[in-house]
This record gives sequence, C-alpha cells and structure tokens, in this order.
Amino acid sequence: MAKAKIKKIKKAKKVLKERKKVKKVNIILKPEEVKILLTEKQIPDAWYNILPDLPVPFEPYIHPGTKKPLTADDLAPIFPMALIEQELSPKRWIDIPGEIIDIYRLWRPSPLYRARRLEKFLQTPAKIYYKYEGVSPAGSHKPNTAIAQAYYNKKEGVKKLSTETGAGQWGSALSLAGTLFGLEIEVYMVKISYNQKPFRRSMMETWGAKVFASPTDRTEVGRKILAENPDSPGSLGIAISEAVEVAVKDPNTKYSLGSVLNHVLLHQTIIGLEAKKQMEIAGDYPDVVIACCGGGSNLGGISFPFIYDKLTGKKPGLRTVAVEPTACPTLTRGIYEYDFGDTGQMTPLIKMFTLGHKFVPSGIHAGGLRYHGDSALVSLLCKHKIIEAVAYDQNPVFEAALIFAKNEGIIPAPESSHAIKAAIDEAIKAREEGKKKVILFNLSGHGHFDMIAYDDYFSGKLKDVPLSEEALKKGLASIPGL
Ligand SMILES: *Cc1c(COP(=O)(O)O)cnc(C)c1O
Repeated sequence: MAKAKIKKIKKAKKVLKERKKVKKVNIILKPEEVKILLTEKQIPDAWYNILPDLPVPFEPYIHPGTKKPLTADDLAPIFPMALIEQELSPKRWIDIPGEIIDIYRLWRPSPLYRARRLEKFLQTPAKIYYKYEGVSPAGSHKPNTAIAQAYYNKKEGVKKLSTETGAGQWGSALSLAGTLFGLEIEVYMVKISYNQKPFRRSMMETWGAKVFASPTDRTEVGRKILAENPDSPGSLGIAISEAVEVAVKDPNTKYSLGSVLNHVLLHQTIIGLEAKKQMEIAGDYPDVVIACCGGGSNLGGISFPFIYDKLTGKKPGLRTVAVEPTACPTLTRGIYEYDFGDTGQMTPLIKMFTLGHKFVPSGIHAGGLRYHGDSALVSLLCKHKIIEAVAYDQNPVFEAALIFAKNEGIIPAPESSHAIKAAIDEAIKAREEGKKKVILFNLSGHGHFDMIAYDDYFSGKLKDVPLSEEALKKGLASIPGL
C-alpha cells in the first residue's frame, strides 16, 4: 500500500477517535444537571428475560395435587396463553408490542435523577442516582405490567379481569389498564384497607373498576369465611382466593397478579433497561443497585438488566440489594423451599424464600411489602448470592423518607422508603471509608395516598415490630415442602 494512503487512513482513524472522545465528554452530566431524560423514541422495544441466563436451571412450579411440574393447560383457566408462554420462555429478549409502547408513552421513559442535594446533605463522596417510577398515572411502577397484562388478555378475547389488592396500588394500576383497553376490572380489596383507604378506592372507580370489600358474599370462599366470622377484616390471602375463584368459574374472566410471577418481573425490566441507557448518558455504572422487595417486581425490574452484566462476566463486582421490613423478613429470615403463594392453597407450589403461607405479618404501613413469599427468580438469585438482602424497622425507614423529601422534594411511598434507607446507609458507609461509590436505587412510587402513615410517624404512633422467634417458627411450620 502506498505510504500516503496509510497516512490518510491513520489520520481518519485519529479523527474518529477524537470525535468519540468529544462525544463521550458531551454525554457526561454537567455539574448542575440533576435529571437524565430519554425521548419517547428511546423507550426499549424488548423486555429482558433473565431465565436463560440464570446460574442454575429454574425450579419448576409444582401442581399441589399431582406433585408434577405445572403444565400450560393447568394455568389456562386463569391466564391468557401469551402470558403463560412468557412465564417460562427460553428467549432472552421478548418484543414489546407497539400497542403497549403507545400506552407506555403516557409516562415513559421515566426520569433518572442524580440526588445531588441528598449527597450534599449526607456529605458523601458517593454518587446517588434514583429511577423515579412515581410518574405513572397510578403513582407506582405497577402499570408497567398492568398495561402488558391487559393487552394480552384483550387480544385473546377476555372480557373481564379479576384481581386482589391490599393497600390499593395494584388495584389502581389494573383499573387504569382496564379503562385504556376496554376491559372490565373487578377488584377484591382487603376489607380493612377498603375502609381505611377510601381514596385508593375512588381512584379505581374513577377508572371504571368495580371494587368489593373482601371477604364478600359473591364467592364460595368469601361466604364460608363470613359464616365463620361476619366481622372478618379480610387478608390478601383471602382476597386472592376470591379473585381466582371468580376467574375459574367464568370463561370470559381471567385473573391478574401484580408481582411475584416471572412474566411480571419481565415486564418490569423496562425500568432497568431505561436506567442502563440513562446511566450511560451520565457516564457512570452502578457499584450497587438497590430496591425494596415485596414480591420482587420492582427489584427484578431495575436490577435484572444490570445483573445480566454480572452473570455474563462483564461486571463481576456488581452488588444488588433487596430491602425488606423486619416485620416481614422473607429473604433475611425465611427459608428456601416449595410453598403455596396464598393462604387458601389455591396456587401452585413455588420454590421460593417464604415465611410460610399461613404467616400473617403485622399491620405495618408499607402494605406492599407484606407478603409471606417472594418471586422465585429473586429467591434463586438470592440463594446463589447474586442478590443480597437487608431488613429495616419502620421508624428508621420513615426517618430516611423525611431526609429524602426535605432534600429531593419528592414524598416517597413507605415501600420505596426502604430502598432510600438502604441507599443512605451505603452512602454513609462510602463517606466513612472515603470511597467513591456509585449507588442506584429504584424509587418505586410516591406517597401521596400514604399520608396517614406519615401522620402516625409524626405523632410517634408508629411501632417497630420485628418478627418474633415464635411467630417465625409458627409461620415456617405451615410450609409443606415437597
Ligand atoms: C406494590 C409496591 C411495591 C412492592 O412490590 P414489588 O413487587 O416487590 O415491587 C413497592 N413499592 C410500591 C410503590 C408498590 O406499590
């Protein structure tokens, strides 16, 4: 090759390299910037399925009668085929249909924030980022899966969806999805919350859903419980049993679940996929990813796309932290075993961390974190030390919520405040160790419907109720295993 030509190529390469450098400099946040926003065009067009990348094979769901792995036919009466397929799909990427993306546009992409004011307040050398899912119309991450589930049901000719709700977050997300896709929504709301949280109910009714205080006289399960105890305050376990019964008995009705299942976590990975792009724009990669964990959907949602880098060896040092309440310490004190997903033993057996399906946690304010079990995927990753877990009492969690609200402005949901508490602790540790650390946490929702909880905190009425050894033993005793 002629010398001149080689010189020319070398020069072109150098120019390209310089350009890349300039581009990189440009995409790093300026010192005053706090928000990293994507455009609607940058909404991910596929969800990330972690199943094919797990360190060990997924343990199958088991039919409680036959003790054999569950088949698609077993699930067909309550879920549409598309979701059953997603539940155990071997495909790493699953396309997001355009109709779903068009609805996601109403609030997605959600913003990623750099918590500069919180960093300053904590005097930490750590950088704190948070992904804010409270911008959805229902105020949490839950519509990410509600929209997807409503879409697939509608496509398969389903007319009505039944579901349960505790505090009302999931019920409102599904009601929103119902109105957008023209599906009837029937919500069985735990009676005590139905009476204590009238505004969540009004929200669901605004979107056209029918809300019933569970136990009701509309189902066999409900009538049986009312006959035994007419004043039953209800429980999530009972409400699930009622909603499932309604779906099983009506061919035009299916059931919908807001957390725990693989397809729910799959839909939530949109959070982490966006966050990954946003972190890249910020010029950082997290050392630790943090989220609160009830059934595991917002944790799986933000962390799985990052955990992919750990499982494939690109980021071996990445830490992921699940944060739970000491009143319901599933991952930190439960055992990894096959158990039912509900009190009424209507669900399949799931290999997961559990406190026992008969376990009833005390009435703490983070209602979304009061579940005896956990996602099978999160449980497996926790068992294999890919994910760590910590538990906190209510009062320090609300203390963290206030620090956050006073510095960053947003009033967080009590559930999300668990993640904030852990992020603050990581930032303080970084200060003490003099380490530059990058922290990313998921702010799963706002707390505008939880102000009674804040009131209770202000008036000193909030009790720390860590689970006692007796209650733990009693709960664990209800685990059937295999
Ligand atoms: C429901 C809920 C949670 C807990 O559910 P996961 O499935 O563990 O994410 C956390 N935060 C908020 C705001 C919720 O509504």
